Amino acid sequence: MQFDPLKSDHPGQGLAHPESYWAATAGAAPSGDGAVSGDVEAEIAIVGGGYTGLSCAYHLARNFGARPVLLEANRTGWGCSGRNGSFVRPGIGRRKYHQWVEDWGEEAARALFAEALAGVGTVRGLIREGNIDCDVQPDGWLKIAHRKGRVAELERDRQVLNDLFGFEAELLDAEAIAAGHFRGTEAFGALRAGESFGMHPLKLADGIARMARDAGAVLHEGSPVTGMARDGGGHVLTTPGGRVRARIVVLAVNGYGPELNKATRGRVLPVLSNIVVTRPMTEAEKQDTNFVTSDVMFDTRTLLNYFRRLPDGRILLGNRGPLREAPATQARHREELLATIHAKFPALRGITADYFWGGWVAVSLDSMPHVTTAEDDASLFYCMGYCGTGVSAAIHMGWRLAERIGGGAALLPVLDTVLPRMPFAAFRRLGQAAAFRWFRWRDERG
Ligand SMILES: Cc1cc2nc3c(=O)[nH]c(=O)nc-3n(C[C@H](O)[C@H](O)[C@H](O)COP(=O)(O)OP(=O)(O)OC[C@H]3O[C@@H](n4cnc5c(N)ncnc54)[C@H](O)[C@@H]3O)c2cc1C
Repeated sequence: MQFDPLKSDHPGQGLAHPESYWAATAGAAPSGDGAVSGDVEAEIAIVGGGYTGLSCAYHLARNFGARPVLLEANRTGWGCSGRNGSFVRPGIGRRKYHQWVEDWGEEAARALFAEALAGVGTVRGLIREGNIDCDVQPDGWLKIAHRKGRVAELERDRQVLNDLFGFEAELLDAEAIAAGHFRGTEAFGALRAGESFGMHPLKLADGIARMARDAGAVLHEGSPVTGMARDGGGHVLTTPGGRVRARIVVLAVNGYGPELNKATRGRVLPVLSNIVVTRPMTEAEKQDTNFVTSDVMFDTRTLLNYFRRLPDGRILLGNRGPLREAPATQARHREELLATIHAKFPALRGITADYFWGGWVAVSLDSMPHVTTAEDDASLFYCMGYCGTGVSAAIHMGWRLAERIGGGAALLPVLDTVLPRMPFAAFRRLGQAAAFRWFRWRDERG
C-alpha cells in the first residue's frame, strides 16, 4: 500500500492490517462497533485508534464513566501502534538525556525522566490489568556505540542517568557485549539499563482496544474522518458512513493524519521507518553469533538501527527508510536492511528475510511530542510528534489526556505547548532529503 500522509487528510484503506510479522502472529482481532452508520452524537470523539487514542478512550471510560466515540480510519492498531519495533523504553521524543539537561535544566530534565519512567509503568499496569498476553520479554535495553568515538556520548548519558536521575545504568565494553549479548561488528561499547522490554505491539494494541470497549468506549473502525468543522458549541466530523457531533475532540492521528486539521497541519514531518524480520536462526547461527540477549537495542546513529532477537529466534532490525513508500525504493530498502544484518552479525551472513514492512513516524520540529489544546480552541486536544519513541509515551499521554479531559488535571508543562510550525512546510520532504544526506554522512564518519 502506498500512502503519503502529506498528500492526504486521512489514511482510510479498509480493514486489513498491512502484512507484517506482527499481523501474521497477533491472533484473533478484537471486536469493534463497525463503521459509523448514520449521524452520531457524542460528548467526546477521538480520531485515531492507535495507542494514544485507545489509551485515552480506555481511561476516559474506566476512570470517568465516559462513553467516548473513537473513529479509526482502518483497524485499531493499524498505524504505528501495530507495526513498531516493539521497544518499551523510558523515552520521550528523540533528544538524548544529557540534552534534556542542557536544553531545559536539571529540574525539568528530572521531571521529564520521571514522566518517561511513569510511562513504562503505565504500560506494565495495563498489561497486568487487562491480562494482555503480548509476549513480554525480560527487562533490558542497550544503546550501542557504532563507532569508537561515540562511547563518550554514552558516558555522558550514563552520568546523567546515575547522578541526576538516580537511575541505574552501566557502560559495557566490547568484550562484555560479545560475552553477554551478541557477537558482532559496530559494537564498541554500550549503555545498558533496565525498565525496558520487548513485546508484541499489535497484541498490546488489541488488548487495550478490548479493555477500552469493555469499559464503555465505542470503537468505530473503517471510519476515516474526511473533514472537520465547528458547529455552534461543538465539532462535526464527517466520515463516509455519517457525521459525528461532539463537544470535545481528541486528535490522535500522529504521523498518519497531521494535515486533517489546521491545529496540526504543517507541524509534523511524517517519516517512513521500515523493519525487516529474518527467518529463525539455526542452532549453529545462534551459537556462532552468541545472540543470547532479549534486550531491545539501538545504536548511536541519528538514523539509528534498532534491533532485537524475537522469542522464536528471528532477528528484527529497522531504521528510517526512503522518503516515500514507492514499491521500488521499498524493495531496495528491504535488501539494505538485510545487508545491515549480514554486516552487523557476520555469523548470520546466510540468513534470509521473511517479513518486511514500514510505518510513518511523526517527527516534530523540536524532537518532542506535544500534548495540548489547539491555540484557538480549548475543546480540541491533540497529542502527537513522538519522533519514533512512542510506545510507552503514547500510552501514557493517552492516559494524561483522559485525566485532563475527564478530571481537569494539568498536563506536563514542557509538553503542554503547541507543536511548533515547520518552516516552509510545503517543502518538508525536500528538507528531509537534505537532512538525511547530512545525517548519513555524519553517522558513517564516526
Ligand atoms: C516502524 C516503526 C517502528 C517503531 N518502533 C518503536 C519502538 O520500538 N519503540 C517506540 O517507543 N516507538 C516506536 N515507534 C513509534 C510508535 O509506534 C508510535 O509513536 C506510536 O505507536 C504512536 O501511537 P499513536 O496512537 O499516536 O499513532 P498511530 O499508532 O500511528 O495511530 C494513528 C491512527 O490514526 C488513524 N488515523 C489517522 N488519520 C485519521 C483520520 N482522518 N480518521 C480516522 N483515523 C485516522 C490511523 O489509521 C492510525 O491507526 C515506531 C514506529 C514505527 C512506524
